[in-house]
Amino acid sequence: MDLEKLLDNNFSWVENKDPEFFISISKGQSPSFLWIGCGDSRGCPNTITGCDLGEIFVNRNVANQVRSDDLNLMASLQFTVEVLKVKNIIVCGHYACGGVNASFNADNGLSSVDNWIQPIRDLIKQNKVELESIDEEVRPNRMVEINVLAQVQNLMQTETIKKAWANGNSLIIYGLVFDFATGLLKKICEETGGNE
Ligand SMILES: [Zn+2]
Repeated sequence: MDLEKLLDNNFSWVENKDPEFFISISKGQSPSFLWIGCGDSRGCPNTITGCDLGEIFVNRNVANQVRSDDLNLMASLQFTVEVLKVKNIIVCGHYACGGVNASFNADNGLSSVDNWIQPIRDLIKQNKVELESIDEEVRPNRMVEINVLAQVQNLMQTETIKKAWANGNSLIIYGLVFDFATGLLKKICEETGGNE
């Protein structure tokens, strides 16, 4: 794939769409979901869920982390919850995640990546007993699930979510894991803040 092919694909895609669709989306967005996912090229949310443009607001990073010092994510979160009024937030990890796998190493020689995944190394330490009780081969994938559960908890601690739930907002947070080997999404948790 090169840029020329990519632009050709874009042109073909436009030709196959109803022109009214573009007029419609150019007027504004009202997505049902905020998707916080890993940036892995195999986990494009619209592709794996069959959603069209306008349906999912996306914020992705290495190993789908939720960190209050990530201004990009905090801005996306506040904007989607308070302005776009999304009612569903998905934190989606995926098995065979390079960022989670790399977190089992103390130093990968990639300074920016190593800094970014440090919280996952801490999570591995916190979950050492469980991880060491299971087969070594399945530890990385279990850690993917533990990471999603932890990031959902981090999300619940953000000012935006605490404020939304305190005000009776019925938004729901879901933790999902995507499996490249089957193409399927699995729900591993759901949080409502008591506002069902
Ligand atoms: Zn990943």
